[in-house]
Amino acid sequence: TQKKKMSLTGRVILGMVLGILTGFIIRSLFAETSLVHEYLVNGLFDVGGDIFIASLKMLVVPLVFVSLVCGTSSLSDLSTLGRLGGKTILFYLTTTAIAITLALTMGNLFQPGTGADLSAATSFSAKEAPSLGDVIVGMFPTNPINSMAQGNTLQIIVFAILFGIAISAAGKAGERIAAIFVDLNEVIMKLVALLMNIAPFGVFFLMAKLFTNIGLDAIYNLLGYFLVLSATLLIHGLVVYSLMLKAFSGLSPKVFLKKMEDAVMFAFSTASSNATIPVTMETATKRLGVSNRIASFTVPLGATINMDGTAIMQGVATAFIAQAFNIDLTMSDYMAVILTATLASIGTAGVPGVGLIMLAMVLNQVGLPVEGIAIIMGVDRLLDMIRTAVNITGDSCVTCIVAKSENALDVERFNDPQAGAKEE
Ligand code: ASP
Repeated sequence: TQKKKMSLTGRVILGMVLGILTGFIIRSLFAETSLVHEYLVNGLFDVGGDIFIASLKMLVVPLVFVSLVCGTSSLSDLSTLGRLGGKTILFYLTTTAIAITLALTMGNLFQPGTGADLSAATSFSAKEAPSLGDVIVGMFPTNPINSMAQGNTLQIIVFAILFGIAISAAGKAGERIAAIFVDLNEVIMKLVALLMNIAPFGVFFLMAKLFTNIGLDAIYNLLGYFLVLSATLLIHGLVVYSLMLKAFSGLSPKVFLKKMEDAVMFAFSTASSNATIPVTMETATKRLGVSNRIASFTVPLGATINMDGTAIMQGVATAFIAQAFNIDLTMSDYMAVILTATLASIGTAGVPGVGLIMLAMVLNQVGLPVEGIAIIMGVDRLLDMIRTAVNITGDSCVTCIVAKSENALDVERFNDPQAGAKEE
């Protein structure tokens, strides 16, 4: 009998678990100055992890541009596009608002900051939150090549949509170009699938390096914050999305969550919604049965503007810092937190650690000491990984809801456990 090879998901999980174990073992057996650190951790693991992240990021710009041009040029008319955009943005904003509200509630219910140790506080400076006007103007590229070079997802989205509209309006010439983009899209998705094969190794390197260096004693000091935040992230990721999916699309949350596992693991190990876009796209189209014309729009847009996990962190952290510094927040302060956090999440891209920068804007807005960030920074990396997983689950949940409502979700594929699962 032929021996069945492990699925990609299985191999990625294996890489992750082995990486975490390796990290812990090195941490407990070797001093930081040892040769193991020099050659293995800062050598092989670092290089291997960086190559993995680079190969994911490499795919993002071509994938977003090509798939979105494909998607837009196949839309029949402009009103469909408007409806699609309106619905998607409305759902993204709603999930974010629910997320912060839930976080502020949990933060006030469990009071993780009361009596917290502030000794770690040092100085930290905040940037201004962008205004809504700036965010909108900033979406329009002056030079699309420059937007691509800088990986500015919102600008790429705007250019791709306009380009796609022009293609569908350009008659015969448009049809020829559209055909090329359809082929290009196939090729790029193939490239995604190919590079996915190095993922088990990449995830191993990332985890091994991280867990060699991560200080878990910091978590101990901030246990209340850590627990309340992770619990809120879990509730949002498992319960809120399940309820939304069921209510708005009638699809099975269980199937959805099961199929998200690859994307969740990538998000967890890279801590970047942006770098995870190729995997989220693959999951949405191949596993969840969402048509490319929806996913090509909602996934990159979500990775940029929809960060529910990050919003939850803003909410819990704000409550925590207010309690730690003994400052009372009024109802209007809470409103300001919700508004600033939502705006800041639109204006910032999904890359590692950006949540802390957004938090600085939020604290500034309500007059809380920005130094508070220094206290929670020590435990942020692990939380960043968890909230990034929530961020992309939210993008995918809204993607399914919007696709179902547009009749662009293949329910049979969604329910087929084998669909898109790779057994290579
Ligand atoms: N790392 C997160 C993301 O890429 C953003 C953050 O919360 O720092 O989605």
